Amino acid sequence: AKTRVYLLFGGRSGEHEVSLMSARNVLQALDRSKYEVVPIGITKEGRWLMTGDPLRALTEGVAAAGGFPVGLLGEPTRGELVPLAGEAPALEPAERVVFFPVLHGTYGEDGTIQGLLEMAGVPYVGCGVLASSTGMDKGVAKALFKQAGLNVGPYKVYLRRDWERDPAAVRADVEATFAGYPLFVKPANLGSSVGISKVKRPEDLDHAFAQAARFDRRIIVEQGLDAREIEVAVLGNDDPIASVPGEVLPGAEFYDYEDKYFNDRSQTRIPADLPDDLVQEFRRQAIVAFKAIDGAGMARVDFFLERGTNRIFINEVNTIPGFTRISMYPKLWEASGISYSELCDRLIELALERHADKS
Ligand code: ATP
Ligand code: MG
Ligand code: MG
Ligand code: MG
Repeated sequence: AKTRVYLLFGGRSGEHEVSLMSARNVLQALDRSKYEVVPIGITKEGRWLMTGDPLRALTEGVAAAGGFPVGLLGEPTRGELVPLAGEAPALEPAERVVFFPVLHGTYGEDGTIQGLLEMAGVPYVGCGVLASSTGMDKGVAKALFKQAGLNVGPYKVYLRRDWERDPAAVRADVEATFAGYPLFVKPANLGSSVGISKVKRPEDLDHAFAQAARFDRRIIVEQGLDAREIEVAVLGNDDPIASVPGEVLPGAEFYDYEDKYFNDRSQTRIPADLPDDLVQEFRRQAIVAFKAIDGAGMARVDFFLERGTNRIFINEVNTIPGFTRISMYPKLWEASGISYSELCDRLIELALERHADKS
C-alpha cells in the first residue's frame, strides 16, 4: 500500500511565498508509485485548504475565504482529517500516513505545527517541537550553541516593547554593548532575511528596529562580521550525517530577500572552496549544532568564516530550510550523492523511524 503524505505549505508566516516555491518542487518530486500525496495549503489567516488545487489557490491569491480553521481532529493516524467547521474531502483511511510540513518561519518551522502533529499522534518530517522552537529563535539557539562549545559572535536580544517604550535607552544600550558598526538587526524568529537590516551608522538603528518589530516581539542585534558564508546540510535522527559545505556569495550588501529569490546576482559554490581540515571542521560543527538543539530529520546550519582570521562563527540553524530544487539544502545533498527525490524518501523514512522511536 502507498504511504499517504499530507504536504503542508503556505502558512501564517513572512515566508509564506517561499513555502509555496518549496512545496511546488516537493509535489513534483514525490514518487506517486510510493506515495499518495494530499496537498494542504494553509492560508495567511491560518485556514486549511484541502479541496481543489490548494497550491494554485494560494499562489494566485484566490483562497481568501476558503478552508477550515484547524485540521487534525478525528483520527489522523488513520488518514482522516476532520475540520472544526466547513468541508474537508472524505479520504479513505490509509495504512501509513506521514505529514510533511514544507513551511518556513513562524507557525511552521518554530514548533507550533510540530506540537499540533505531536498531539494528534502522527509522524511528521523534520525536527520535533524542542528543536524547532529553539532553532527558530536566534537568541535561544545562540545560547545553546555557545553551551555546546561553538563560537558565537557578539549578540544581544531586545524586547520590542522596551524599544517602543524607550528607544533612546535601547540605542544607548546597543552602543555600549557592541564594539562598532556594522550591526545586523533581525526579528529573532523568522527567515529568508525578512525584516533584517544591516546597520552602518547609529542614525539607522531606529529604522532597523522598526523593520524587525513588524515581525516579532523579540529583536536580536548582532555584530556584523566580515566573513565568507558557509552552509552545511544535516540529515538523520540520533545519528545524523553532514553534507559537503557550500558557500553563498551574496550579490548585494548582504544575502537579503531579493538576493535570495528574485535577482540573479547571488551565487552558490558547491562544494565550497576550502582546505580539507576546514571542510571536516564545518561538518563536525554542523552536527554539534544539530545535536545541541536535539535536531531530527533535517537542518541547514549557516556559518561565517571570518576573513583574515579564518575563525569560524556559527550564525544560525534552519530546521525547514529552503527546499526548491535549486535551494542550498537539496543541492548540498546532491553534491554529496543523494538526489532530490531520494532526499524526500529518506526524510519520510526518518519521520516514520522517529515516530516509532517515541512509542
Ligand atoms: P535564512 O533562514 O534564509 O538563512 P535568516 O532570515 O534566518 O535567513 P540570517 O541567515 O541570520 O537570516 O541572515 C541573513 C543574511 O544576513 C546572512 O546570510 C548574511 O548575508 C547576513 N548576515 C546576518 N548576520 C550577519 C552577521 N552577524 N554578520 C555578517 N552578515 C550577516
Ligand atoms: Mg534562518
Ligand atoms: Mg530559514
Ligand atoms: Mg541564514
